[in-house]
Amino acid sequence: MASNQVKEPVITLSAGPVPAFPRVLRAMSRPVHYDFDPYFQQFYEEVARKAAMAMRVKQPALILHCEPAPGIEASAASLISPDDVVLNLASGVYGKGFGYWSARYHKEMVEIEVPYNESIDPQQVADAFRKRPDIKVVSLVHHDTPSGTINPAREIGKIVRDNGALLIVDAVSSFGGMDIHPEDCFADIFITGPGKCLGGAPGLTLMAVTDRAWKHMEANPKAPRASVLSLLDWKDAWSKDKPFPFTPSVTEVNGLDAVFDQYFDEGPEQVWRRHELTSRACRAGIKAMGLSLWAKTEAIASPTTTAVRVPEGVKDSDIIRTARESFGVVFSTGRGETLGKLLRIGHMGPVAEPIYAVVALTALGGALRKLGRKADVAAGVEAAMSVIENGQG
Ligand SMILES: *Cc1c(COP(=O)(O)O)cnc(C)c1O
Repeated sequence: MASNQVKEPVITLSAGPVPAFPRVLRAMSRPVHYDFDPYFQQFYEEVARKAAMAMRVKQPALILHCEPAPGIEASAASLISPDDVVLNLASGVYGKGFGYWSARYHKEMVEIEVPYNESIDPQQVADAFRKRPDIKVVSLVHHDTPSGTINPAREIGKIVRDNGALLIVDAVSSFGGMDIHPEDCFADIFITGPGKCLGGAPGLTLMAVTDRAWKHMEANPKAPRASVLSLLDWKDAWSKDKPFPFTPSVTEVNGLDAVFDQYFDEGPEQVWRRHELTSRACRAGIKAMGLSLWAKTEAIASPTTTAVRVPEGVKDSDIIRTARESFGVVFSTGRGETLGKLLRIGHMGPVAEPIYAVVALTALGGALRKLGRKADVAAGVEAAMSVIENGQG
């Protein structure tokens, strides 16, 4: 336990990690089995199959025993060969960041970067292929979390596949919170994790990898082996008959099992619905309260995170601190380029429930009022309630 200097939050509405489901936490207290014991090997295969079922792919999922950021770096290291031209799509901090990893491995990079409150236009991707038919690998972040905006992954993925290139999709903060799966968007490496919309802990990376991508990695002379950046090392580790290259994170795998039980018991469509309704109620309330959404249009605003423009003359850090000190509610700031410009309200996992939109609005509005700003909290709550009441049918 932390010392008593900083109080524990009451409600965490961050853009991840999120408060994990109690059922996941209970599963994480199951025994830590020896990884080479047949019981654990069989269990691991079952979990990899559940992950594949959630991602709607046949091949059991590739699980890496690290948080998704290193998992994404490992994808760059394993897939991108020294002959590859990479098209990097950047509509936010994570998209831009992939380019820095790619730079260690590619021959050349073409980049499409849009303002961080907009999304990538598929036409721009088609144009890039017309100019550079030699593009071999494309990287896309489906939901660039520090922008709170969604990219049209299906349309972009179709163009990439039609042009014979390989697509990496970072769906870490969208998978499990909305209708997106590897095959919907033609992803060759689809990356997600349990610590955002699925309501688990943040310590694993889950991937779906196509045969085309495995072939490319196998032919890549620089693909790392016996390394934490190696996907190939873990290719067959899902099988109960194959050894693990390194010790897997047993406790995290125990938790992952419950993450998928939770997801299937509730039903994916219902899970996406509550994320969508919560975000819609939140956006309506933000506008009614007299604040502005960060996303250029609501059509690209994420159903899993609402980014709110920081009002003129007040600091993001003051709002966040006041919401926390006065109400015990935790929000996220921006990151990198978006730091200071926006605040983020997370609707992920257990807190993607409509009533938390009301909590967010009252805590945010209340914090602004404490700071001497105007915020019509009543109008915000009324607008959110109206969306919730209609949405519940
Ligand atoms: C959370 C997240 C990741 C994981 O990386 P961290 O920054 O370490 O949390 C990767 N991609 C996206 C889009 C994310 O939201």
